[in-house]
Amino acid sequence: MSTTYITAAIRREVIKRASGCCEYCLMSNEDRAIDFVLDHIIAEKHGGVTQSDNLCLSCYWCNSYKGSDLSSVDWDADKAIVPLYNPRLQIWDEHFRLEGARIVPLTAVGRVTVFLLQLNAYERIQERQLLIALGVFPCKKI
Ligand SMILES: [Zn+2]
Repeated sequence: MSTTYITAAIRREVIKRASGCCEYCLMSNEDRAIDFVLDHIIAEKHGGVTQSDNLCLSCYWCNSYKGSDLSSVDWDADKAIVPLYNPRLQIWDEHFRLEGARIVPLTAVGRVTVFLLQLNAYERIQERQLLIALGVFPCKKI
């Protein structure tokens, strides 16, 4: 969670750049009851700064599960400590793909991010299935 004030200009820039989509789970901020937040990709306690290139748009759930973490354990491979997906430095499609409502990891980075952010938790899959049925998932990046 941020302790530094984020200016309205930076907030607008980050939301616009993300086209209103959570940069982790591809949910649209228009489809969520709880407001999206600006996530410090590298948390301030690790020295991350409050600048556009260290911020991403995140839904409440992705941000809550991520917290200030930078990495997690790749239990499916060699139990290595692997950094989380970084939306500013990496491309979503290279680390994940959608199979219906499931977010399937393609890499170690994808695996630890799906695991830590609980991207395929039962209730999140249920919500995505509903949004798919309504034709509003995945969020359309412009
Ligand atoms: Zn999300």
